[in-house]
Amino acid sequence: MKEHLQFETLAIHAGEQPDMRDGAAGDVAAPIHLSTTFARHEVEKPTAGYEYTRSLNPTRRALEEKLAAIEGVGHGLAFSSGLAAETAILMGLLRSGDHLVASDDLYGGTKRLFNQVLAGFGIAASYADVLDLDAFERAITPSTRMLWVETLSNPLLKVADIRSLAAIARRHGLILVVDDTFLSPCFMHPVALGADIVMHSATKYIGGHSDVLGGVVMTDRDDLYERIQYYQNAAGAVMAPFDSYIVMRGIKTLALRMERHADNALRVARFLEEHPAVGQVVYPGLDSFPQRELHRSQATGDGGIVSFDLRGSVADAKRFLSRLKVIALAESLGGVESLVELPALMTHSSVAPEERQKIGITDTLVRLSVGIENADDLIADLRQALA
Ligand SMILES: *Cc1c(COP(=O)(O)O)cnc(C)c1O
Repeated sequence: MKEHLQFETLAIHAGEQPDMRDGAAGDVAAPIHLSTTFARHEVEKPTAGYEYTRSLNPTRRALEEKLAAIEGVGHGLAFSSGLAAETAILMGLLRSGDHLVASDDLYGGTKRLFNQVLAGFGIAASYADVLDLDAFERAITPSTRMLWVETLSNPLLKVADIRSLAAIARRHGLILVVDDTFLSPCFMHPVALGADIVMHSATKYIGGHSDVLGGVVMTDRDDLYERIQYYQNAAGAVMAPFDSYIVMRGIKTLALRMERHADNALRVARFLEEHPAVGQVVYPGLDSFPQRELHRSQATGDGGIVSFDLRGSVADAKRFLSRLKVIALAESLGGVESLVELPALMTHSSVAPEERQKIGITDTLVRLSVGIENADDLIADLRQALA
């Protein structure tokens, strides 16, 4: 695919050029190849490069090409979930005795993977506040191999300064991994800012319809790609052909959806900021957002997540959540439908209360994933539930 094409065009066409050879049907949407194995002419040579679907599948291949194209890098890889993608990065690149430094307010499942699973294989993680780059650098030891950050972070939307972190990574010879799930490839390209690897839970904005689980990895480094791809085949948590098709379909409308997510989120955030029952509102598009300048310097949009503190008790917060009619009370985010949750009792309940306090997750902090419904309907729903 031509390099000068823009994001929206690549999102639709990359990886899916119609096959116009004699006898081919010329599908404009890549077909779903469910076959697990592929016939060949010769014993030693797979005829079209395909042998067995765990190793390589034409539908997953089309998605992986699209992912590389929309990130503007050489390689994309698709896994069965975001955590499977993370596992492939970690197990593919690290060894027993290695250490990584990560931001302290990571997705709970990522922290669980680091602390409960990797630790058992002799891979240690330490945590630092991404707002304090000196602390991040101080946490680096002689056995550190990797830095791992999320931006925007969950649920407080802290911004990691990717350019500065990349400089730290270079200085110490480390691999910088960015989990960019919250902004999607539509609003930020971490590799262009200096990251070595970007990963996403495709379950969120990339899939975008709360109907497929997936994880994706993009990198421009051949050496890292080869090791992660080796692990992908060796361990086997690949994205299935049907899921690959669904994720490709999601990517085609990613730009349209992200624009509407962001427009709606800004309107909702402004409404909440004016409401007497609401305390602090966190959204990168608000003038009050503390890291607005840094965010604007590395992202082209503000995303669809709004976090806010409700005044009152946990019981008041529960009452508010149960009164919502359009906005569903559910974990997850990034789908076309608006979802709301209480991190302290839901997504972040496994984080110790003292730790939550330290990070700034109060018991009445609400995380809202603003969907692409009509914003007036969302605001009316919030207004009646806050009354
Ligand atoms: C959901 C999520 C993950 C995990 O992805 P799954 O697809 O649920 O395995 C990782 N990172 C972030 C930021 C997420 O929101």
